[in-house]
Amino acid sequence: MAVTDHVDLNGFMEGVKKRNPYQPEFVQAVQEVAEDIFEFMQDKEEYHSQQILRRIAEPDRVVSFRVCWEDDAGNIRVQRGWRVQNNNAIGPYKGGIRFHPSVTESVLKFLAFEQTFKNALTGLPMGGGKGGSNFNPKGKSVREIMRFCQSFMTELYRHIGADIDVPAGDIGVGGREIGFMFGQYKRITNNFTGVLTGKGLEWGGSLIRTEATGYGAVYFLANMLATKGEDLTGKTAVISGSGNVATHAAEKIVQLGGKVLTLSDSGGFIHDPDGITQDKIDWVKTHKTHRRGRIEEYVEAFPGATFHAGKTPWGVPCDVALPCATQNELLGEDAKTLVANGCRAVSEGANMPTDLDGVHTFKHHKILYAPGKASNAGGVAVSGLEMSQNSERRSWKEEELQQMLKDIMSGIHNSCIKYGDQGGGYIDYVKGANIAGFKKVADAMLAFGVV
Ligand code: NDP
Repeated sequence: MAVTDHVDLNGFMEGVKKRNPYQPEFVQAVQEVAEDIFEFMQDKEEYHSQQILRRIAEPDRVVSFRVCWEDDAGNIRVQRGWRVQNNNAIGPYKGGIRFHPSVTESVLKFLAFEQTFKNALTGLPMGGGKGGSNFNPKGKSVREIMRFCQSFMTELYRHIGADIDVPAGDIGVGGREIGFMFGQYKRITNNFTGVLTGKGLEWGGSLIRTEATGYGAVYFLANMLATKGEDLTGKTAVISGSGNVATHAAEKIVQLGGKVLTLSDSGGFIHDPDGITQDKIDWVKTHKTHRRGRIEEYVEAFPGATFHAGKTPWGVPCDVALPCATQNELLGEDAKTLVANGCRAVSEGANMPTDLDGVHTFKHHKILYAPGKASNAGGVAVSGLEMSQNSERRSWKEEELQQMLKDIMSGIHNSCIKYGDQGGGYIDYVKGANIAGFKKVADAMLAFGVV
């Protein structure tokens, strides 16, 4: 009997929904990719008959484990940890680790699925994975965070390796947490190897890894604007988030002559009509990252600004927007508001920050819209370069890495044009990114046969 769930998009998605109940984020991510891939596959029987998309949408494995740790008051705490190894057709699994109370298997499966295409787009040999825990680092002491990271790695270490799976940071996991996890890995295995990226410069890390995602998202934005003969000089930018990606995106916008109007966190957003300049960005970095403060305190330091509790910044008129906080933070109505207010370009720093309605709105209005899998790939690209440096046991210079990052972002932009050019000056970057990423992984899978 013929297998039918790959025949059309609806049938395929019904199967995905049935096999992944209560996993809305994962289903959403697959739907966004499948919409483009089914059209692309129409005349490519081999992809259909070999069930390539169905196979990419079924992770190679999902490891779930218990993480016990003791808090400062002596209570035993129990968290859940995961590593999703989605696909290693073109290289070792690669993708970040997220510590946030909203983490579920669905969220990590969506992120690992997206990562598979993103990593392929970079042109580097990296498969897709993602991991994390529902542990909430907010309000925890450094010693508690260290104990949690050590416990997490005590299970994770058996599933990763420099040629197997190389995790990095993500929400809630920065250089400090990578340090605690790397220390524990090294202690357990007695092996100093490039098993994690985002490491400190003294112990195998790469220059510009910290800045790469935010900077890369702005380079991608600049590439998009250049197709219209424009640049960032004098453009107003609305940015969400105030973590690693948001602050470095803001920094690069300012460096390229733009004016940043907003930043946010889960408590609300700040609007600074005078512009968030480099000294203000430095204040946010210190305040949010090192002192674990809230963005609302910005208005005390810079009284020209206002704080809007519980709101997202998409109602502030702007030329360009960069969602850099989290998934599904920019909804259909927000997309309509942005377009109505004259926003001409959106470059996603976060993963899947725009919901499907929002994506359809941007596409309908044919604005310059880059999905995260293309525009935020700079971080994982420099992670890939960190892996290369670790293998070679050397460190490249900052100028070399800056140039490589720029080149990689331009390369991704070109791939999007190759498969997303719709004629009449409109480039569908979502379609371009989906097809370019899919094709690379799919062709490798075809070469391997049915495995
Ligand atoms: P950080 O932890 O440094 O910062 C996250 C920011 O997003 C914080 O300002 C946080 O606010 C805010 N945020 C988190 N959850 C929510 C929420 N539910 N609602 C509103 N705001 C929220 O993370 P990163 O900057 O590293 O990551 C941001 C995004 O970029 C994520 O989607 C991540 O997957 C993606 N990304 C990151 C890469 C990297 O290199 N770091 C690479 C590629 C993608 P609060 O402090 O209140 O929690």
